[in-house]
Amino acid sequence: MGSALRVLLPVVALGVGTWVGLGRPDTLARLAATSRAVASARVPPLPLAPTLPSWVSTTPFARSADDDGGTHATDLESPWPRLNPQGRTDTAWLLAEGPYHPPEDGRRLVTFTFDDGPFPETIEPLLRTLERHQVVATFFLIGRYLEGPSAHAEEARRCARQIALAGHHVGNHALDHKLLTTLPHAAAAEQIDRSAAAISQATGQSVFLFRPPYGATDPWLEGAIRERQLELVLWSVDAEDMKRSDPGEIATTIEQQLDYEHGGVVLLHDVHWPSVKAVERVLHWLEQSRWDSQHPERPGWQIVDLAEYMRATAESPQPFASRDALESSRRDAGAHRNAVAVLSRSRPME
Ligand SMILES: [Zn+2]
Repeated sequence: MGSALRVLLPVVALGVGTWVGLGRPDTLARLAATSRAVASARVPPLPLAPTLPSWVSTTPFARSADDDGGTHATDLESPWPRLNPQGRTDTAWLLAEGPYHPPEDGRRLVTFTFDDGPFPETIEPLLRTLERHQVVATFFLIGRYLEGPSAHAEEARRCARQIALAGHHVGNHALDHKLLTTLPHAAAAEQIDRSAAAISQATGQSVFLFRPPYGATDPWLEGAIRERQLELVLWSVDAEDMKRSDPGEIATTIEQQLDYEHGGVVLLHDVHWPSVKAVERVLHWLEQSRWDSQHPERPGWQIVDLAEYMRATAESPQPFASRDALESSRRDAGAHRNAVAVLSRSRPME
């Protein structure tokens, strides 16, 4: 898959309606970021590369004295590794694929991210589901919802606080969900900074996780991310949930992609009811095949928060220079498996 497919242009504007009267920005066009063909079968473990890439830095995020966030449950007990200090987009796509697991390690990590909220209508059921399954997710919030004295903004701020108090991570998804790469630089910078301030004020947390709308970046934006010491967080599993109204279909697509990729960062939108319903099903599905530390070689799922996902990725980085190289290795592994299957089927009876 070419990187062009991931550097997005919004082509389909899905009206999600007016969000409790706020009026969502008309730039809220939805786009499938990574519409990838998904093989339904498991792919054998990837070959071990002789050397590991050099891009992982284990320098933790510097956190200033005033951003300890008070008593919030989401305060980080240990520092997040700084995996991509250069703010590089290709590195961020590869990091989203998670850690490399050698063949004898069956652990498959999954972490959940929810974009475009906070959304008062769905947040409580979603938080209940996550709590029931003891899942810590990451919410990339739109700053505009949290600004101003209106009742809607107050409600949105309450939601944001609720997310943080429930122990989830919050990240910045820009002020208005505009395609930042089309804006003058000053305006794009304002989209990042005002949103971060609004999220920080609402949740009491410093906001260093950043996901640009549509995953779209350019060299200027990478520089802005670097200057601000933000962590660019993209995703690896995209069910194109905003285009689907059937929770079962969303869940099945996520499950197939997770199977194919051996885990990943799941992208969902908590503003979309079918997605919220799909979460419950996916969590059940994952829990049916949990990874068992007593039998670490057996493939199984482990649902982790983004910090743990990043730490595991720092400890065992993918031995590939890019996500495309990883994908092509997966395809080769799949082709090899298919060839072996054909050979064994065509062997004459003895
Ligand atoms: Zn978004």
